[in-house]
Amino acid sequence: MNATNVVLFGPPGSGKGTQAEILKEKLGFEHYSTGEVFRDHIARKTDVGLQVERFVTSGKLVPDGIVLEVVSAFLGERAGKPVLFDGFPRTIAQAEGLDRVLGEHGTSVALAVLVDLADDEVVRRLTARRQCRRCGKIYNLSFTPPTREGVCDKCWGELYQRKDDSEGVIRDRLLVYHRQTRPLIEYYGKQGKLKTVDGSIGRDRVFEEMSRLLG
Ligand code: ADP
Ligand code: ZN
Repeated sequence: MNATNVVLFGPPGSGKGTQAEILKEKLGFEHYSTGEVFRDHIARKTDVGLQVERFVTSGKLVPDGIVLEVVSAFLGERAGKPVLFDGFPRTIAQAEGLDRVLGEHGTSVALAVLVDLADDEVVRRLTARRQCRRCGKIYNLSFTPPTREGVCDKCWGELYQRKDDSEGVIRDRLLVYHRQTRPLIEYYGKQGKLKTVDGSIGRDRVFEEMSRLLG
């Protein structure tokens, strides 16, 4: 595949993170999820963690300046390697910032893939989402439940529900998504980089579509 950077965006719960994990394993991408990075900082109580915690737990966007700083530091260490960005950029300012920073490293965004999903399906999925505390594997109690309740199949870690996956917070995250992130459709569309995948067709079929787009 082309050694180029790809952006995955879409509403919360559209399956971006799950797809990114599969694509990383099968196509050898570097997977970079700003949400995961922030949750890790919060768990470790770093300076960044303390700054972002209130935004993340209430479903608000972390301010663009902080997000861009964290991403620039990451890109500085990983100069040149192709990256699959998951959940970043989420605003036009972040998209512009990403173009700028990648430009400084002599690369660019090759493709932006929108994994689309209707709001009521988002709510249905996220309230059933659980994640492994140890390895990060994501489960859905309706479609992909663990074999043993509350326990990760892969590493026996404890499964937990993210604070921002409660219904009220999910509604707020959807509002933020519609206002701030959907404008990326036009941003990447104008540049001829936008592809859309229907996130409701099931994990394996979404993966086939993605492989076709990225292969
Ligand atoms: P989801 O895609 O399911 O909403 P993420 O793990 O991508 O979950 O993000 C969780 C939270 O982390 C967001 O609601 C937001 O508070 C914060 N966050 C993650 N990425 C960004 C970003 N690019 N810009 C601002 N905030 C972000
Ligand atoms: Zn696990």
